[in-house]
Amino acid sequence: MILVLMGPPGAGKGTQAARLAADMSIPQVSTGDLLREARRDGSDIGKRAAGYMDAGTLVPDDLVIALIERRLEQGDCKPGAILDGFPRTVAQAIQLDDMLERGQRQVGAVVSIMVNEDEIVERILGRLTCGQCGAVFHRLIKPPAVAGQCDVCEGGVSSRSDDNEDAIRTRLQTYTNQTAPVLDYYAGAGRLEKVDGTGGMDDVFERIQDALSVA
Ligand code: AMP
Repeated sequence: MILVLMGPPGAGKGTQAARLAADMSIPQVSTGDLLREARRDGSDIGKRAAGYMDAGTLVPDDLVIALIERRLEQGDCKPGAILDGFPRTVAQAIQLDDMLERGQRQVGAVVSIMVNEDEIVERILGRLTCGQCGAVFHRLIKPPAVAGQCDVCEGGVSSRSDDNEDAIRTRLQTYTNQTAPVLDYYAGAGRLEKVDGTGGMDDVFERIQDALSVA
């Protein structure tokens, strides 16, 4: 099962993708995480992606496609994967379909998590992320037990370099202009399930499970 989880930045994609991955015993594949890892490793792709990421704009399709193709070929993705933050352009969605078709696979379901803009800005400004394992916290709603330290791996927890107000506004604009058309692409193919992303994490998770049971 290849499942695509979509939604604007701050919609809770990462959190929900991790839960679904654990629930379905397939890996969560986040292009944001793959790109941050590439930056930490100092790889060529990481260096080329850094400026786009910090500005809140999209990394060019060819770099992201190369990363995702390599990742989906790994053995743990054979039974399936939860794609988090990919595809983000119609060109990426088309290339994903082509890539999967070559391996006689297909996107099984697409879930879009819907949250309004004011709530998104509030969520992202309070967001704290573990630099080591990617776990997500919130200054007010879900602070780590020990300030500055990840509850999961004890790595350092801080604000992401692109979680500032200017970059957030750019990322939201980018979402509207470049990623929202991907929803139309999947809706046209009858593959899209929309889920209300407001409220608690458990409620949203339940709604996603309901949507998947009818997909
Ligand atoms: P995320 O962790 O999903 O919020 O992604 C962080 C940043 O990584 C984005 O603002 C983009 O600069 C870049 N990025 C992640 N996924 C993609 C993608 N599928 N296409 C292009 N850029 C991406």
